[in-house]
Amino acid sequence: MNSHAPKIRASIQPLEESAINRIAAGEVVERPASAVRELVENAIDAGATRIDIAIADGGKTLIRVTDNGGGIPPEELPLAVSRHATSKIDGSDLFNIHSFGFRGEALASLGAVGRLTLTSRTDGKDAAELNVTAGKVAPVKPAALSKGTIVTLRNLFYATPARLKFLRSDRAEMQAISDVIKRLAMAEPSVNFTLRDVSGGGEGRVTFRADAVTGDLFDALRGRLGQVMGREFIDNAVHIDAEREGIHLTGLAGLPTYSRGAAVAQFLFVNGRPVRDKLLIGALRGAYADFLSRDRHPAVALFIDCDPHKVDVNVHPAKSEVRFREPGLVRGLIVSALRHALAEAGHRASTTVAGATLGAMRPEQPQNPRVYQMDRPSFAAKQVAYHAQAPGFSEMADTYSGRVVEEGSQETDETPTALPLGAARGQVHENYIIAQTEDGIVIVDQHAAHERLVYEKLKTQMAQNGVPAQALLIPDVVDFSDGDRTRILDVAGDLARMGLTIEPFGNGAVVVRETPAILGEVNSEALLRDILDELDDQGEATAVQDRIEAILSRVACHGSIRSGRRMRAEEMNALLREMEATPYSGQCNHGRPTYVELKLSDIERLFGRT
Ligand code: ADP
Ligand code: MG
Repeated sequence: MNSHAPKIRASIQPLEESAINRIAAGEVVERPASAVRELVENAIDAGATRIDIAIADGGKTLIRVTDNGGGIPPEELPLAVSRHATSKIDGSDLFNIHSFGFRGEALASLGAVGRLTLTSRTDGKDAAELNVTAGKVAPVKPAALSKGTIVTLRNLFYATPARLKFLRSDRAEMQAISDVIKRLAMAEPSVNFTLRDVSGGGEGRVTFRADAVTGDLFDALRGRLGQVMGREFIDNAVHIDAEREGIHLTGLAGLPTYSRGAAVAQFLFVNGRPVRDKLLIGALRGAYADFLSRDRHPAVALFIDCDPHKVDVNVHPAKSEVRFREPGLVRGLIVSALRHALAEAGHRASTTVAGATLGAMRPEQPQNPRVYQMDRPSFAAKQVAYHAQAPGFSEMADTYSGRVVEEGSQETDETPTALPLGAARGQVHENYIIAQTEDGIVIVDQHAAHERLVYEKLKTQMAQNGVPAQALLIPDVVDFSDGDRTRILDVAGDLARMGLTIEPFGNGAVVVRETPAILGEVNSEALLRDILDELDDQGEATAVQDRIEAILSRVACHGSIRSGRRMRAEEMNALLREMEATPYSGQCNHGRPTYVELKLSDIERLFGRT
């Protein structure tokens, strides 16, 4: 390509239709999963309530999608497989799209790179069938089918063998197909989905199934999310329902303590369309930034719904990215709705924390039943018995590093166990508070809990009193390109509120006069560049705030009760009450839980009482 030898130049000619389709297919159909996505979207667009997907060899030899939707009339079959032919828009308004499809190229592309058979029947007409092989369309012929459409795609990419080389193992391709179907199923709770692996022929094996769920909108969504993401997610997530200027956000957001090691459980939808969008993912990170360390990822299923005019879906050939008219608005909505809902969940930590604890505690089932020899106590047992009989709890407390709240002391009488975190009963190993609740016990990591409380307090103070700024003795001058300079000056007001004061300076520069005092010495240029990157990514600058919060978090860590400090009963109870009243207190600043709760029923199970 970069040889300088003169090339023989052919005259300009339009490409043949089949070549055009193969080129287009390269964008639309990257791998079997993208073909499945197009076909299932077509079935949903056709109003199907039952969609069956059969796959052989990771989709390389066979993809078959059967639906009970409206079907295609025989005379339109050839149009369905030609490029830029669609029944979904009339082309007059590309910003008013209510269907998955609108480009009219999926079937044409699939017909160009595989063997495609379309069998379909509409009400009041006979069923018909059309075959396309490597772009060659055969005549329509009669077929047998009672309702809906069957699209069969065999030998995908056989016409473009170079593509085949890029495919991964059958298992990996099947996994990708399964992901695609799960995502689509999440947004369509009233549709039945079945995914079958028919490698080797026959009925095959069902690898995923989601039955139609009914009920009101949110119940149906919850039900479907439970089928796809698992019951555990539903139990450990908060309900999101917020609206701002015509943009609706609904769904479920996992508790921070229910986070994952990778971004594998993040499902985002815009007007029912699954998307992987940089803006939305950035907003999600922003919403959880306070509760999760960088290596933890929240689990969410979030649905944004708005007037189609507010979002452009025609920016990506596979339609997996979108562009919002007002990205800042969408980001703000996500961040504030999630933070708010998580704050309401307050001290709630995930049930999996208790589950994991129990798992760790439950004794292994011994091979031989253990025999307790009550008549010949071990040395350790004798010691325990001795201490228990000895006068003075304080002595025992020393031996075991545990402390007991004195019976009959004022606070035990008055502290109601009915409160969520209960009444403190003791402290063990100078760091763990044991509290009794109405139906269980709570174990609090006092250091982690206090750290969170201090951090939240610092943040509140900062929000109320503003961020103290520190004037630079010698203001920093930072050079920018014209565009960058305008963009950063546009947000100067926001930055000033965070203690960062900037002003225009000469031609093409900005002068930094004040920086947030808490950050200490700052590299102004690096900070401003970070902010610009964020503006690019998310349409909003949170870099200063993020940095300040990171520092506050560190301050909180140093300013809080260290483990190893003994606490009096009223101190412990005060800590519990404060945790109940403080948003986000269920996890420390690093996303670890600050407490675990064991229900009495769990404890009884532990002892084999049930
Ligand atoms: P698009 O979905 O962008 O319109 P496609 O190439 O995917 O383009 O499909 C072309 C047309 O074929 C659709 O507009 C629709 O009218 C028809 N069609 C495709 N699949 C189905 C189906 N499963 N049921 C009914 N009609 C279908
Ligand atoms: Mg389509």
